[in-house]
Amino acid sequence: MPAEELVIARPEGLYCPPGDFYIDPWRPVARAVITHAHSDHARVGHGHYLAHEHSAGTLRARLGEITLQTLPYGEAIVHHGVRISLHPAGHVLGSAQVRLEHAGRVWVASGDYKTEPDGTCTPFEPVPCDTFITESTFGLPIYRWPSQPALFEEIDGWWRANAAQGRASVLLCYAFGKAQRILHGVDAAIGPIVVHGAVEPLNAVYRAAGVALPPTLRVTDPGVDAALLKRSLVLAPPSAQGTPWMRRFGHYSDAFASGWMQLRGTRRRRGVDRGFVMSDHADWPGLQQAIAGTGAERVYVTHGSVAVMVRWLAESGLDARAFHTEYGDEDLEPVAAASPDPGLPPVGEGDKAAT
Ligand SMILES: [Zn+2]
Ligand SMILES: [Zn+2]
Repeated sequence: MPAEELVIARPEGLYCPPGDFYIDPWRPVARAVITHAHSDHARVGHGHYLAHEHSAGTLRARLGEITLQTLPYGEAIVHHGVRISLHPAGHVLGSAQVRLEHAGRVWVASGDYKTEPDGTCTPFEPVPCDTFITESTFGLPIYRWPSQPALFEEIDGWWRANAAQGRASVLLCYAFGKAQRILHGVDAAIGPIVVHGAVEPLNAVYRAAGVALPPTLRVTDPGVDAALLKRSLVLAPPSAQGTPWMRRFGHYSDAFASGWMQLRGTRRRRGVDRGFVMSDHADWPGLQQAIAGTGAERVYVTHGSVAVMVRWLAESGLDARAFHTEYGDEDLEPVAAASPDPGLPPVGEGDKAAT
């Protein structure tokens, strides 16, 4: 391995040799820099964690007592001669790209990112670097997200029509990030908003960080009765689908919010009435724009459609390579755990093709 590598892949995770620390390691290590608090990037068992200050609440909620050092965006620390700073990734609250500078070289590890501002976290900023380590969860040309206003017009329209017909609108969405984005973006004047118990603690973390969210109710709150539920928007994690918790909503309409909803087959397999194309990851144009925006000559691709993205970048004249990682996609976790689905979209396929 040439001495100038600022990040290499080790069995424990992505490792910075001169700094002797890892970025989002998947096995327990002494020192970990964490890009964001989603479970595949922020795991238990590390000796020391460094993350953005807005990740403190979600990390502690998930991991309990950890040794955590936090940084605001743009402020640097130097560790074994490596200058480390965190920069907005626009993915979820506290999500950060990690910039490493050592001996005149600059590498940036993106973690997960999204390029369109969503109002619930600091928008993505391109960070100039020599080498960019990018995700590629939706790294296929078919993935193009509707704009935020178009997306929320669709969600509001669905909720409004259901409320007019006296039916609850149950929207299945990942509890950390997506649920708060929906809360922030919908027209709360349409009706009451009820959230699952897995969602409310994360709402509290967002509110504490100063993110404006409309009032939310729990099904156990006083005043939450059948009449109220019929006009409600209900936010629940995908794992709530088909559980007894859903029975209280009677005859409801259901929907799923995920980037995978761009594939017709995913919605069919989910068995929901509606699919909203909504992701906290960059779509294909967003990935291209972000990569170009760094000015990097070398790009490593970590997860998602790795082989496709590496080939595409190489054809555009970049030095493109793959890192084998164990990152997943938060939207696929519950379904993958419940029933192995041979038709699941290309997260695994990309990884396989890359190895
Ligand atoms: Zn993530
Ligand atoms: Zn990820």
